[in-house]
Amino acid sequence: MKHARPKSQELVSWENNPSLFQNEIRLILRAADDIIASGGRTLLSKILKGSKEKKLLELGLEKNPSYGCFRSLTMAEIMGKIDWMIDHNFLEIQYSGKLPMIVFTERGWTIERDQYADELLHEWDQWIADGITDVNMEYLKDRNRGMILLFLQKIKNTGNIKYLPFLKQWEKTDYKKVRQIVGKVIDHLEQQREINTKAMAEMKEEVTKAFEFTPNEPEILKCWECGERFIFTVEEEKFFKLRGFVPPKRCPACREKKRLEELGVGDELEFDE
Ligand SMILES: [Zn+2]
Repeated sequence: MKHARPKSQELVSWENNPSLFQNEIRLILRAADDIIASGGRTLLSKILKGSKEKKLLELGLEKNPSYGCFRSLTMAEIMGKIDWMIDHNFLEIQYSGKLPMIVFTERGWTIERDQYADELLHEWDQWIADGITDVNMEYLKDRNRGMILLFLQKIKNTGNIKYLPFLKQWEKTDYKKVRQIVGKVIDHLEQQREINTKAMAEMKEEVTKAFEFTPNEPEILKCWECGERFIFTVEEEKFFKLRGFVPPKRCPACREKKRLEELGVGDELEFDE
């Protein structure tokens, strides 16, 4: 089996058992999420197989992101993977009366919770990209609290104010405890917006300042080399200010002399004189 797998795929790094790839583990955990404590191994394997059975479609399981991801495998092969998941402490069986139901282990849930929170965030991104602004946030109610907190943490970490409209709708619909945390994330993002707005305003101000000069009269400056007075024209002043230069210290003649000196021709000129 090991040799049949393409090398480019990422091998599962947790524990020393490379029998299942990390992405396979994630896919199975995601499939299990929709039937947790309410379905068994068979139902789980049918989701992964992409079965069109009536029961499965009635439960809307064809909408599960992992639906049909193991379409090319046999039911026995899929079942083998599920059993591997149970053997390796990602999933376990709990009995509901006589019925064996799939549940997450803590380890499995830690992974699934994270990928589910990512999924929710991607969904928001998609809605925003599609211009959808009005969403009934009731769908987030009664979700696992730990997963919801993780979702909120992820939103907060983005620092992106595009999520504010959804958060504000969510704040209206959920329970008090969740509302409080949603409120905190809103505050955080709004602070972020203030910081951004302030930085933007400061930048604009700098640009405005750079253009904001209305010299009408030319200035008369005194050359600190020869002591002659010279005219600093309005155009020159604009030119100097735009480039952030200070007004010239020397008269045009001394400036020219200095320039030539710097070019190394100053001495020759003096010699000629
Ligand atoms: Zn001068």
